Amino acid sequence: MQAHPCPKCNQPMDEGAISVSDQIGYLSKKQTGMLRTVTQIRQARACLNCGYVEMYIDPKELKQRIS
Ligand SMILES: [Zn+2]
Repeated sequence: MQAHPCPKCNQPMDEGAISVSDQIGYLSKKQTGMLRTVTQIRQARACLNCGYVEMYIDPKELKQRIS
């Protein structure tokens, strides 16, 4: 398994996903039009030591929306 230490405290992180009842995603400030579709958060990791959470979107998907 690939190790992804916490960028804050360097402890091992837990792999997961962001989960809410409604859709959660990333919206760039560059998305100024009427149709502002969020980019879905595909992957997340949480630090089991300090609680830091990092999230990943698909960069290709976001670039398409802001280009
Ligand atoms: Zn940490």
